[in-house]
Amino acid sequence: MKPVLSVEGLTVRLTTGGRSFDAVSDLGFQVAAGEVLALVGESGSGKSMTALSVMRLLPPAAEITAGSMAFGDLDLAAATEHDLRAIRGNRIGLIFQEPMTALNPTMRVGWQVAEALELHKGMDGAAARRRVEELFDLVRIPDPKRRFDDYPHQMSGGMRQRVVIALALACDPDLLIADEPTTALDVTTQAQILDLLRDLQSELGMATILITHDLAVVAETADRVAVMYAGRIVEQATAGQLFAAQRHPYTHGLLGSIPHVTAPDEATTRGRLAEIKGTVPALWDLPEGCAFAPRCPRSTYRCRKSRPPLVEVVPLRQEACWHPVGDAR
Ligand code: ADP
Ligand code: MG
Repeated sequence: MKPVLSVEGLTVRLTTGGRSFDAVSDLGFQVAAGEVLALVGESGSGKSMTALSVMRLLPPAAEITAGSMAFGDLDLAAATEHDLRAIRGNRIGLIFQEPMTALNPTMRVGWQVAEALELHKGMDGAAARRRVEELFDLVRIPDPKRRFDDYPHQMSGGMRQRVVIALALACDPDLLIADEPTTALDVTTQAQILDLLRDLQSELGMATILITHDLAVVAETADRVAVMYAGRIVEQATAGQLFAAQRHPYTHGLLGSIPHVTAPDEATTRGRLAEIKGTVPALWDLPEGCAFAPRCPRSTYRCRKSRPPLVEVVPLRQEACWHPVGDAR
């Protein structure tokens, strides 16, 4: 089956503080209908830049300098603003970390969703209102008829994020991009929103890109995982493959910090990183070889001199490492 989105060679150049550097380098991934692809990595690894590239909503300091993003018959990297306006919020839905960035504080929440339906689906006010009430019900907002007339500030963070999810799903998108959708919420609400997203995904069957720095979230939701480091994918696999065996030392490091995925004792006895020492390198001052080498317990002279390419080792599994851990499966 043809993927809903197929990204190849995506490179995003940032110019800031008198410097110019690639925030995203030669990125490639695909996501199919009904599938959840997780993009994971520490803060600053280029996850949001990737999401904003797909939506073509990059800040003025950032520019796509190479690559293609095939979405249906269109290459999003080359699409006109006219084409993009017909796609954003219609065929691609977006959920950000902070619900207030997506909501207008001066407008009743119901009408914000209704507006999208009027714009993209040509619904009239009454039909749009009925559909919004259905959508609010779908995202489990209690008492949808009454909540329709709330302003965002009258709702809790969790309820606001449900409105944003309703907005993202209103036009029945082919692709949903959720960038850290639960990070700004308290732990209990996080779990509820994740449950909701998972249920909606299996019910509606859109392709989903879920961005998170939290591998516990990935374990519960993703079909496939792409691990990003310093703007590049360093390991990509099915969730089953990845949780059965992490090949890249960076992925090991990420997993070592989640006790209920890999027991801490097991991690130590197998010589895994309990946590990743050091910090993500500055993107304008990357080392010559592998960007992770300075923090990697397995790094050698070769790693410091030459960057390992991303290669497919077994079907569905790619890695960029000269000294991966264990056997690929
Ligand atoms: P992530 O979402 O993985 O935390 P981002 O994609 O936000 O990472 O950031 C990638 C890099 O781009 C980081 O070095 C970050 O500092 C930089 N960056 C992000 N947003 C901006 C911006 N608006 N202007 C300049 N630099 C930015
Ligand atoms: Mg981000």
